[in-house]
Amino acid sequence: MKLPAALQSRLLPDQSLARFTAARLGGNADWLFIAKELDDLVDVVSAAWNEGLPVRVLGGGANVLVSDKGVRGLVVINNVSTIEFGNWHDDDGCKRNVSATSGVGLTVLARKCAAHGLSGMEWAVSVPGTIGGAVVNNAGAHGGDMATSICDIVVLDAQKGPQILSKTELEYGYRTSTLKARTDRRFLVLMATLALHPAPNAEIEARMNEFIAYRKKTQPPGASLGSIFKNPPGDFAGRLIESCGLKGHTIGAVQVSPLHANWFINSGAASASDYAALVRYVQARVLEHTGVALETEIELIGDWD
Ligand SMILES: Cc1cc2nc3c(=O)[nH]c(=O)nc-3n(C[C@H](O)[C@H](O)[C@H](O)COP(=O)(O)OP(=O)(O)OC[C@H]3O[C@@H](n4cnc5c(N)ncnc54)[C@H](O)[C@@H]3O)c2cc1C
Repeated sequence: MKLPAALQSRLLPDQSLARFTAARLGGNADWLFIAKELDDLVDVVSAAWNEGLPVRVLGGGANVLVSDKGVRGLVVINNVSTIEFGNWHDDDGCKRNVSATSGVGLTVLARKCAAHGLSGMEWAVSVPGTIGGAVVNNAGAHGGDMATSICDIVVLDAQKGPQILSKTELEYGYRTSTLKARTDRRFLVLMATLALHPAPNAEIEARMNEFIAYRKKTQPPGASLGSIFKNPPGDFAGRLIESCGLKGHTIGAVQVSPLHANWFINSGAASASDYAALVRYVQARVLEHTGVALETEIELIGDWD
């Protein structure tokens, strides 16, 4: 692959993606680039599109299961992290006061907003990953989500170039968006603007501490992808899995967490095939015993048979 001269030496061939995913597993990318500046991110992704190479942008790798066979083409790890605070009111009524590039970590964003006395991102304080992934997936927790605070985002589209997409155009639902529904993946989220509410810092901190304590109590430590399945309407995926007696069920080195049945833990030596096999097994058992077809929240990427 050919990049502008200044970037070429940072393009790494045949690199393991395991260290860039929260589950700590998966094969190699044909090419890997770690972007720290917005210009580099845009230049590298555009160059790959121009060459007709498949491109996958990853933030924290917290919602993706990478195949053992790896990912063809270019994988870009997005570490572009800048946050600005201001007052950019527009005539659409959205009171924009935070602007963040897509590589900003959710935890960092939650903390910085708290320090600025802005409430609305507390839910993200212990959610791994970046704004980019959260915008695509409409990440959320504790009753909040990205959709609640987003005014609009800036996207680079392979066909249409730079675009501003409003919240309405993103058609957010529970862990869904128009971006997530796109199978071509030929877009790059560059930044998001948010409208948060002023609130006393102590109040925001107290809410974040409450969420952190709740997660410590209810969610297991170790390498995982968080919730594997979406909650079906009116129920919880974890409750259904537990009701089938699957807590602790293990395939290879991946276990259905005995603490939270919707979390699958890599004990250290797991393969992505083991992980995917456990996903399929649990899906089949839950369907058989409860009649509910669980839908995955995580995304399988790379070469799968
Ligand atoms: C321990 C743990 C706890 C979790 N808890 C929660 C929770 O409470 N709530 C929740 O909603 N999720 C949770 N998750 C899932 C995960 O944190 C979120 O989905 C998060 O938003 C993923 O962000 P990411 O940057 O890691 O995305 P990635 O996994 O890197 O990518 C996800 C998708 O977005 C695409 N993408 C990422 N960045 C860009 C970009 N800039 N441009 C274009 N496409 C992009 C990727 O190509 C991929 O398709 C948890 C995960 C873990 C491991």
